[in-house]
Amino acid sequence: MKRNVLIIGAGGVAHVAAHKCAQNNISLGDIHVASRTLGKCKAIVDSIREKGSQRGSGLLKAHQLDALDVEATKALIRSTGSQIVINVGSPFLNMSVMTACIETGAAYLDTAIHEDPDQVCEPPPWYANHEWKRRDACRAAGATAILGVGFDPGVVNAYGRFAMDAYFDEVESIDIIDINAGSHGRYFATNFDPEINFREFTSNVWSWEGGQWKSSRMFEHRKDWDLPVVGRSTAYLTGHDELHSMSKNLGVPNIRFWMGFGDHYINVFTVLNSLGLLSEKPVRTAEGLEVVPLKLVKAVLPDPASLAPTYIGKTCIGDLVKGTKNCRPREVLVYNVCDHKDCYEEVGSQAISYTAGVPVVAAAMLIANGVWDVRQMVNVEELDPKPFISLMNRMGLVTRVRDEQGDRVLDPYKESPATARSPKQVVDAPAV
Ligand code: NDP
Repeated sequence: MKRNVLIIGAGGVAHVAAHKCAQNNISLGDIHVASRTLGKCKAIVDSIREKGSQRGSGLLKAHQLDALDVEATKALIRSTGSQIVINVGSPFLNMSVMTACIETGAAYLDTAIHEDPDQVCEPPPWYANHEWKRRDACRAAGATAILGVGFDPGVVNAYGRFAMDAYFDEVESIDIIDINAGSHGRYFATNFDPEINFREFTSNVWSWEGGQWKSSRMFEHRKDWDLPVVGRSTAYLTGHDELHSMSKNLGVPNIRFWMGFGDHYINVFTVLNSLGLLSEKPVRTAEGLEVVPLKLVKAVLPDPASLAPTYIGKTCIGDLVKGTKNCRPREVLVYNVCDHKDCYEEVGSQAISYTAGVPVVAAAMLIANGVWDVRQMVNVEELDPKPFISLMNRMGLVTRVRDEQGDRVLDPYKESPATARSPKQVVDAPAV
């Protein structure tokens, strides 16, 4: 039984993860929050105390850490007795935190693919450039590493796998659609780290079409989707992490990612990008000051966590899966709707942070109870999705399914009777 948790990072996602760990610390154990800026870790601890989120007894502590320093990270894992590390810091940290986990035997979780500061949009599949190179090391150490277990990547990987198992004989396509129909009331802001957000869109777009990688330009392909709750929504073909593992692990010929953007976002993005203000390459000012334009833009934009108090509206993120069952064509949407205001009332965060922070804690709980403690490196679609979806249904992220039988809450054990619950899949404590 693994219990004590070290959360790395103190941004919006870490805030949610810490609250959810506290709410479920009967299944988990001590909770440690460590990041570059100690004050932000302390603020998270204070907000957990203010909201009374912590259910069971156990330590709740803030730490200062430079997570690029592997030895310092190992020392903190050991001194806190942490058996599970939730890495929700900047994606530049992934490989150093993972190394610390492999060398201490702690389980490793993250919610985004590793980024090399000097490279934007590496060749596909992205996981092969960094994470998968450590697969053998993980296996040799018997260390569990679950990659990309936020919402997208993460839950959408599980949705794709679940839909394939439960509803289809053959799958022709998975379209992952991410619509944020919320409004934060600011002139311009990104919903998570602006630097990472912009890096996703400044290069070419990789999609998986006809069993191979296809490259296109950002905003080149758009499509309107008819979605529950948020209605008819325009989304653009976008490169995204989950395509780079699902394409390898699921054997589906077409997997695409579509993200909703308003005209205002596209205009601002286009201006910044055209001026070179989204470049990761340093420039020198006339005064001899060296500046990375993208880091400057990040510094002047709102902190995504600060958007939460005024955010209203909902997100709808899901997988539209097409294929055949019993030789008949079929189409199934597996999805979640999340309300910004509800998230703020529960944990003081907006829905984008919430939808990323809840799954990573659900995964930590499944490691703690042994169900997902696989002692090797995996992407989410390689794991049984049923205990994950079932647990999240009880943690505030409810999965729904829309098909020819209508629209309903998805109980993964009822919808797939052929693969009924095994004793290992029983979650050992009620979840919040
Ligand atoms: P933030 O930028 O708000 O938080 C990142 C945190 O990492 C900050 O607290 C930052 O510290 C800390 N950090 C940066 N460098 C270091 C370092 N060297 N040592 C220790 N800490 C460091 O990001 P978010 O909370 O919005 O996102 C967190 C992660 O979740 C990102 O990887 C993001 O891509 C991912 N994400 C995933 C989603 C999904 O659905 N899969 C959705 C949304 C986000 P400081 O405060 O000092 O800057």
